[in-house]
Amino acid sequence: MAHTEEHIYVIGAGHAGGETAFALRQQGYAGPLTVIGEEAHVPYQRPPLSKAYLKGDCEAPSLYLRQPAAYEKANIGLLLSRRVERIDRASKKLVLDDGRELNYSKLALATGGRARRITINDAARAERTSNFHYLRTIDDVNAIRSRFQSGQRLVVVGGGYIGLEVAASAIASDVHVTVLEALPRVLARVTAPQMSEFYEQVHRNAGVDLRTNIEVTGLDFNAAGDAVTAVHCSGGVVIPADFVVVGIGLLPNTEIAQAAGLDVDNGIVVDEHAATSDPDIAAAGDCTNHPSVFCGRRIRLESVPNAVEQARVAAAYLAGKPRVYDSVPWFWSDQYDLKLQMTGLSQGYDQFVLRGSMQNKSFAAFYLKEGRLIACDAVNRAQEFMVAKRMVAACQPFDPVALADESVPLKTLAPPVQAAAAAN
Ligand code: FAD
Repeated sequence: MAHTEEHIYVIGAGHAGGETAFALRQQGYAGPLTVIGEEAHVPYQRPPLSKAYLKGDCEAPSLYLRQPAAYEKANIGLLLSRRVERIDRASKKLVLDDGRELNYSKLALATGGRARRITINDAARAERTSNFHYLRTIDDVNAIRSRFQSGQRLVVVGGGYIGLEVAASAIASDVHVTVLEALPRVLARVTAPQMSEFYEQVHRNAGVDLRTNIEVTGLDFNAAGDAVTAVHCSGGVVIPADFVVVGIGLLPNTEIAQAAGLDVDNGIVVDEHAATSDPDIAAAGDCTNHPSVFCGRRIRLESVPNAVEQARVAAAYLAGKPRVYDSVPWFWSDQYDLKLQMTGLSQGYDQFVLRGSMQNKSFAAFYLKEGRLIACDAVNRAQEFMVAKRMVAACQPFDPVALADESVPLKTLAPPVQAAAAAN
């Protein structure tokens, strides 16, 4: 028999979890509220983990989204270094990894994701060494950044955003970097060949040994077996390594939701209000598969803006004030002196329009589909990016010639601010 006492628990103390808790307070929920997280830290920003924090330019407390005192002030409980092992929906109980059971009235799942593991034969052995790394948490980066010393040889597996950001950060510390990408080009899943070529050139110019169409097949270990010494690749290539960082994507943490009988399909399935298939449970962030008004289909996103904005929608739902999550996806990546900002999703584009100069490292790439603008990647064009966000959100056709013409200010092409807000 389910109990009736009110207590909302947020499972996962990441970007979405922290935001959900504070948004619940902002939405007027004044009852008992606790965030449970398996990491030892209060919710923190992950983007600097492959950028400033990896380079040693800042320390952990500066990554915290809010300092611990803010949780106390808002009367939000924090249960850290604790994992929720099971959700019993029939009795509305959570079971923790120390065996404790907690009664909930409502739940928010903000379980995020974990680094995808490499599937070569030597993987398990490599994961027990001290110089073979994945990158998702502060603790992961603490282990990596101590190795950033001049002359050290780093092999990065994966030419996605995280792999490339790690490469750029390592180069800044005078580390010798090799990047291995299995596909024919870097960033292949998220951007156009022209953008991949641009980034490949930038990395090579910076001194990165960047190789595409190459797969990791095995590893060498030292005599003691406690360190990887080389990476074996397709074609018989062997690359000596002092340390290895693998950045090959993310797996959403959906296991406890699935075991609890919630709908899961590449993410915890939620509706436009961030509600799961159980009306007392919402979910937000990297772990969700949600309907996108903008894309006209279900998507799962891995980005801070999605985690924050969907968390607010989840909180509104749990507070009894449902509203529709209808944000346009956006994301950023910092590498060297390049600030890349992206809005929309470019998959399925049939026209690529360049505004500005790749050579001067200042441009916006527009993606159109049947004349309609569906995405924009802007490099070192922060002001134009703000305008492009409005244009992409408007879901309407734009003249490709005008988009490319720098003598035409972008803002003269964009819909008025209010019209774009209404369209969004
Ligand atoms: P997470 O941040 O993964 O948080 C989920 C938390 O829940 C984790 O702490 C996890 O341990 C915990 N948890 C899971 N299961 C349980 C359980 N059963 N019990 C208790 N706790 C649990 N995005 C951008 O927009 N721009 C960037 O430049 C960018 N750079 C990035 C660089 C790196 C290195 C990484 C790793 C990510 C980057 N991202 C970036 C992505 C962004 O950080 C994520 O989209 C965001 O952190 C998602 O937040 P989340 O709360 O959904 O998930």
